[in-house]
Amino acid sequence: MEFGTRLLHNGNEIDPHTGAASIPVYLASTYHQSDPDRPGRFDYARSGNPTRLALERTIAELEGGVRGFAFSSGMAAISTVFLLFSSGDHLVVSRDVYGGTYRVLTQVLSRLGISCTFVDTTDLKQVEAAIRPETRGLFVETPSNPTLKVTDLAGAAAIARSRGLILIVDNTFLTPYYQTPLELGADIVVHSATKFLGGHSDVVAGLVVAKGEELAERIGALQNTVGAVLGVQDAWLLLRGMKTLKARMDVSARSAARIAEWLADHPAVRRVYYTGLPGHPGYRLQAKQARGNGAVLSFDVGSRERAMQVLKRVTLPLVAVSLGAVESILSHPATMSHASMPREERERRGITDGLLRLSVGLESAEDLIADLAEALSEKKMFVLGGG
Ligand SMILES: *Cc1c(COP(=O)(O)O)cnc(C)c1O
Repeated sequence: MEFGTRLLHNGNEIDPHTGAASIPVYLASTYHQSDPDRPGRFDYARSGNPTRLALERTIAELEGGVRGFAFSSGMAAISTVFLLFSSGDHLVVSRDVYGGTYRVLTQVLSRLGISCTFVDTTDLKQVEAAIRPETRGLFVETPSNPTLKVTDLAGAAAIARSRGLILIVDNTFLTPYYQTPLELGADIVVHSATKFLGGHSDVVAGLVVAKGEELAERIGALQNTVGAVLGVQDAWLLLRGMKTLKARMDVSARSAARIAEWLADHPAVRRVYYTGLPGHPGYRLQAKQARGNGAVLSFDVGSRERAMQVLKRVTLPLVAVSLGAVESILSHPATMSHASMPREERERRGITDGLLRLSVGLESAEDLIADLAEALSEKKMFVLGGG
């Protein structure tokens, strides 16, 4: 069946006890054991909850893995997955990785004796060169944030397989609608479900899917041990949000493509990053390994002053961190999502002071373009002292 159908009919959408068309919010922390000799499916809600289980099974089905896990945030999910590694282990990580992932690697795991090397994973030779005898994992984010660099997932998986590494892919930007890393050879997919999966800027959540039983067992044990599980109300919100994932993505991605083309022709824009533009370095690879380009694009207006003016002048997008919502969100990576990254590291990643990231929502593309046109207008820039 096609993705849109599987979102709604995956075996986890109807309450098995009542037939209710929405999985109930099971607000219970513990479960009565009517026969202590034969424990039931659920015993304590950190270990399992029926609402959370429906969500976990849904994401596992959509990503094509054996088991899914829901966490209290994307970072809780990613941090828990990193606990698969031990002191002395080394990881190779995409240089353009999400700021929070960079922070947990460089400020927390480093203290625990888990080291990492950041490389441009779009160049697989750099990945191979960074592998050491103690390397155990490869962590890839593609397309990356915010310059949308594309890493060859099948190529990365071939390296991981031959060198015995666990390949972990952050699939937040594309979701399983557009990209299924497990089918390309990854071992684990992680998500900030706060973004497109939730889709409504109203829930913070993380999801993990394991491709095989062995890793699924270990992640399940870590989820239960560390305990950063997703709350039941949020699990329900996420299940609800995900039902419209395809419908939302179709509209937002179509608008993103139009806006990217429009920005590429705009005289005040120095550069546009969108994998759907033929000039993007990852255009062909993206077309090969993914089924779409998603709804996030970035563009460089040349200076911090100009970026600030655009942020102040737009009226439709939220000016905020985060992405992947029904409303468009415009952010300034240098001072928002990547503020915790040292300036030198940021600039190596192309995150200049003039870079803006736009997550396209469900507003009309025409209205968004008109709003951006006004915000970018040279005359206004000049009057405000920019340029
Ligand atoms: C937001 C984000 C995260 C972190 O998720 P939270 O839900 O905010 O903890 C991780 N990776 C990517 C690509 C993200 O955009």
